[in-house]
Amino acid sequence: MKLTGNLLIGAEEVGATAGVMKALNPATNVEIEPAFAFGGSAEVDFAVQLADDAFDSYNATSLDERAAFLERIADGLDAIAPELAQRTSLETGLPAAQLEAETAKAATQFRQFATVVRQGRFRQAAIDPAQPERQPRARMDHRMQKIALGPVAVFGASNFPISYSVAGGDTASALAAGCPVIVKAHNAHPGASELMGRVIQQAVKDSGLHEGVFSLVRGGGNEIGAALVDHPLVKGVTFTGSEAGGMALFQRAQQRPEPIPVFTEMTSVNPTFVLPAALAARGGAIGDGFGERMLVNVGQACLKPAILLAVDGPGYIGLRQALIARVEAMHARTMLTPGIWTAYRENLERRKNAGAEPIAAGGKAQGAWDGQAALLEVDGARMLEDPSLSEEVFGPVALLVRVKDVEQLAEIAKQFRGQLSATMQIDADDYALAARLLPILERRTGRIVVNAFAHPQEVSYASIHGGPFPATSDSRFTSVGMTAIERFLRPVCYQGFPDELLPEALKHDNPRGIWRLIDGELSKD
Ligand code: NAP
Repeated sequence: MKLTGNLLIGAEEVGATAGVMKALNPATNVEIEPAFAFGGSAEVDFAVQLADDAFDSYNATSLDERAAFLERIADGLDAIAPELAQRTSLETGLPAAQLEAETAKAATQFRQFATVVRQGRFRQAAIDPAQPERQPRARMDHRMQKIALGPVAVFGASNFPISYSVAGGDTASALAAGCPVIVKAHNAHPGASELMGRVIQQAVKDSGLHEGVFSLVRGGGNEIGAALVDHPLVKGVTFTGSEAGGMALFQRAQQRPEPIPVFTEMTSVNPTFVLPAALAARGGAIGDGFGERMLVNVGQACLKPAILLAVDGPGYIGLRQALIARVEAMHARTMLTPGIWTAYRENLERRKNAGAEPIAAGGKAQGAWDGQAALLEVDGARMLEDPSLSEEVFGPVALLVRVKDVEQLAEIAKQFRGQLSATMQIDADDYALAARLLPILERRTGRIVVNAFAHPQEVSYASIHGGPFPATSDSRFTSVGMTAIERFLRPVCYQGFPDELLPEALKHDNPRGIWRLIDGELSKD
């Protein structure tokens, strides 16, 4: 597929109106062709107007039509998987084989959402039939279903440039809900963004949908993102990235004349608590497993286990040594962008200045943007004194916390801000302590893992990729998994409607056989 560098607005190719950029190959520090167009608020307005024009017809597509559209996107991603992986690898420094697997994951997400759409349960249809004889007042027929919010702006992530980007879970779940999508491409991978954008644009055309169902815009600063969030026809926003960026967009959206929901996924250190019996029995294996997971994607993963806490005692030295061995064996590898590399170096220095002692380092950097792995250690008392030690350093580093006793472990657990995940390594003799920690962790995290690590993540009906602030801006929802669709839905009640005017999911004879709540009881009738 030929890259033009244009913005993709509906079916149109739109050239630069606000300058151009080239992608950087972070492994060689050399720019790659072609030039990519930057747009501004006029292009945002064009894309959002089209999305708004598309909304009514797209929201009214049958479940089968919409599911078939999502499957076309999946097929299109499969068809370009090697090409997409090659280009993305050049732009991110991530291995092409890993990116092919990420493309397969992205395609799978679209297929999974096609299934969700066909099942129709996302409508959460509920029917309270009329009760004309009810005393003292008759009840009218009430029928509720969930419909799409409206056009949604998606800010793609830098760190999973396929499955969290243009063709990622946010786009898949918003399209599944019935929302037209305008993606703000991340400038760390413009070529990959265009390739994925073209697949979705083609699927829109092949499905006979209104061209405004999907657009891809790009800009050279914060203006384009700000224009998207400010646009009165945008009804929701998703974002994956830094806490500063996410909060800027969140606050902006709340200051609009019409505030809108913003679902940001921002920061998490995914603490791992090693309880004493597990530590004594298998400290070395836990340290080794943690070391392997913390270095995935050069530590640039939202689910990177970044803080390992263990009570000093039998097994601690084995855990520490295994972790040191993993870190020392790690070659320095290319980080995603010069900006992320710089932030890594600065934040690492800050942690050292806060009292965390370096106890291991990986191989030295060869390339300009290589991230050298590091392991820091601190004692529990210091951790309690300085909450900054509990914050994320995005990159290949972790903090080992030598905790004095179980009371101190519980105190540190209470100090963590909201997390995407937390892990407990436990054996049977730890269950009483684990039960004590559990309510502390439940209040602070979206997912609790036992005897494994949070990364990688399943994309399934029960999976949650969310959590209390600052892991996300809205802990009631997930950005990964089938229930991610709920971010883009709102309930509408139809009262006293004739069958002819009712939407498909609420018709009297339930033509699609959807599960519905009838007077509070689940039924397919
Ligand atoms: P970022 O700087 O937050 O940018 C993410 C996206 O949001 C970009 O498209 C960016 O556009 C846009 N954006 C950010 N602030 C904005 C604002 N005030 N107004 C309008 N648009 C705005 O994140 P990043 O570039 O991916 O990485 C930077 C840092 O984010 C990392 O060092 C890391 O700490 C963190 N991060 C965390 C995760 C995680 O999952 N926890 C994932 C990725 C990154 P521009 O590029 O044009 O500014």
